[in-house]
Amino acid sequence: MDPLAESQAQTESSTIRQILARPAVEIDGVGRRWEDALTRLGIRTAGDLLFNFPRDYLDLSDERLIADLEEGELQTIRGSVAEVGTTSSGFGKARVSVLVQDASGHLRATWFNQPFMGKRFQKGQAVLFAAKPKRRGRMWEMSHPTVTWLATEEATSAGEKMLPVYGLTDGISQYAMRKIAGTAVDQLAAVPAEVFAEDLLAKYDLLPLGAALVAIHRPDDPQALVRARRRFIFQELFVLQLALAIRRSQQQSLQAPELPASAKIEARIRRLLPFELTTSQDAALAEVAADMALSRPMNRLLQGDVGSGKTIVALCAMLVTVAHGHQAALMAPTEILARQHADTLAGLLAASRVRFAVLAGGTAKREREQLIDDIASGQIDIVFGTHAIIQDDVRFKSLGLIVIDEQHKFGVRQRAALRHEQHSPHYLVMTATPIPRTVTMTLFGDLDVSTLQELPTGRQPMNTYLVEPPREARWWAFVRDRLREGRQAFVVAPLVDESETVAAPSVAAAFEALTNGELEMFRVALLHGRMSAAEKQEVMTAFREGETQVLVSTTVVEVGVDVANASVMTIAGAERFGLAQLHQLRGRVGRGSHAGFCGVLLGEIGEEGRQRLEAFASSTDGFALAEIDFDLRGPGDLFGTQQHGLPPLRIANLRRDREMLEEARREAQLLVASDPGLCHPSHEKIRSQVLLRYGQALDLGDVG
Ligand code: ADP
Ligand code: MG
Repeated sequence: MDPLAESQAQTESSTIRQILARPAVEIDGVGRRWEDALTRLGIRTAGDLLFNFPRDYLDLSDERLIADLEEGELQTIRGSVAEVGTTSSGFGKARVSVLVQDASGHLRATWFNQPFMGKRFQKGQAVLFAAKPKRRGRMWEMSHPTVTWLATEEATSAGEKMLPVYGLTDGISQYAMRKIAGTAVDQLAAVPAEVFAEDLLAKYDLLPLGAALVAIHRPDDPQALVRARRRFIFQELFVLQLALAIRRSQQQSLQAPELPASAKIEARIRRLLPFELTTSQDAALAEVAADMALSRPMNRLLQGDVGSGKTIVALCAMLVTVAHGHQAALMAPTEILARQHADTLAGLLAASRVRFAVLAGGTAKREREQLIDDIASGQIDIVFGTHAIIQDDVRFKSLGLIVIDEQHKFGVRQRAALRHEQHSPHYLVMTATPIPRTVTMTLFGDLDVSTLQELPTGRQPMNTYLVEPPREARWWAFVRDRLREGRQAFVVAPLVDESETVAAPSVAAAFEALTNGELEMFRVALLHGRMSAAEKQEVMTAFREGETQVLVSTTVVEVGVDVANASVMTIAGAERFGLAQLHQLRGRVGRGSHAGFCGVLLGEIGEEGRQRLEAFASSTDGFALAEIDFDLRGPGDLFGTQQHGLPPLRIANLRRDREMLEEARREAQLLVASDPGLCHPSHEKIRSQVLLRYGQALDLGDVG
């Protein structure tokens, strides 16, 4: 583009910005009286109003004149209220009857036992009624129809087939909102500049922005609405995928130390391992090693089902790093887990010279200061820890690799923080929650993925039972048998204390009941998140060493805890957990040479909850369970609401729109490959969308 045209384009876009940034109430025909209500809805500017899409639509495509109604099918009529009456139908039950008329005749709508309905109609008022009509003598009747109250102007059919329904707040009615939105669409739909290039619109058959704005607020028919929504869904996914692709390309331009795993290094590390790696572990390690041999930072997600042996892959990568004279750090979501990983490494290293330490929230001040000095001077090769690792005062001499265990527990932002603290280390994240592909593509779209497909051989099968209340005594007898055989047991409940508002089991109550009842002859300990780090550590150590036989715990044991002698787990209040989370919990047992048993105490549970738990009991495939969870409850429950740290999608739905997600991803990758900073003037519009929405969350900086 020549400089003149470019500056003209910029002027245009800044004028557009000004128009859309004007207060919404200054649009002709809106007015100050709506200011408070609109503000409460988060609508301040003209642009906000224009992009405040309806949350639903009334389909009036089967709207008819009363005279044209037919029996038995759902239809809509539009008329004005001619008469409202309430009669008693005996036994004190009220029958509300509303007579409406249109140009062709009359219809009676009736409600039984809802006397308040009588008060909601006034003579002369315009309404829409939708129901399956019945003929009663010469009169059409609708029983309990769906009602839409209309503004008088809307009384005669405007020919629209779909009526938008907006989110509301106190002080604004549906028809006022409809009118205001309509005004904005009339005046402004053509204003915002198209973000997509012509050829992209054509390739995916997308409605241009202006037409899509009109159609999403005022669709002519369901097909028009589908097309409009499709355009905005694509746009939302495209912007997200662009953000991820940009982040990825930014990372690839960073410099990292080259850490190839030479044959000698590899042989030395393999000699330390107490077992043969599985085929998957070998393959994953090869992928990791190939990445680390390059001078751009690795960005890899290592996923695998519970117990598939991710830790050892990470430890190998850390040892490769140390072999090259660089440092490695492993960040875990809990101190328990950080210490466990350190113990595992200690078990491998025996007489080696590798120096490592644990840095966590519970580390004493003096000790912490010493550690920080040693990390900075390079005295320590490997650090295990919690977020304490990313505090400002922690500086590494030369950090070559960061491993993050149980990634889903950390936000994307934390990843960013950790990364920018240091000059670019290699980066490996592990998650034990198997992630459906759709989700890896979105929330983790900037990472390469390695998957551990199989479990190490020699694993005992996992047996899961749903325990009905009358069979609980038998279940506890079974648990006692395992304990007498020398095994250990977990008991998990969702809450710490009994709560008045939530009817769910607590560990406090379970501990109380078990130590005075079913398990009174055994050594039982309590563990929950409100205990201090030192207390937790003490309880965990006692359990690991077998001093305690039973651990009654909240989900602090959920991730990663590895006690091979524990073989039986009891879960109370299971309906409050996601399937992926239950699978995680169950993965705490059956890890050693003993078969694992998991008893889910059903308590009082609804049909839907029971079905989910039946799915859980009948499958031991974490990926399959994650897919079920995802289908039933969406990605939020897999990762905890918003835990991934990205702003929520507004119109796209990862489950429903899988196909479009793939397309958007492909296009985004192509675009970023050709113009990594989206610097070309024709990309300015989409670039500002990307920055607006994801600039901060993904730490994209200035992009170009
Ligand atoms: P997760 O993938 O859930 O983090 P871990 O890394 O904690 O699993 O490994 C689970 C258990 O399996 C550990 O006790 C570990 O020592 C063991 N393990 C890992 N890899 C192998 C292997 N190749 N052969 C036998 N046991 C293994
Ligand atoms: Mg693990």
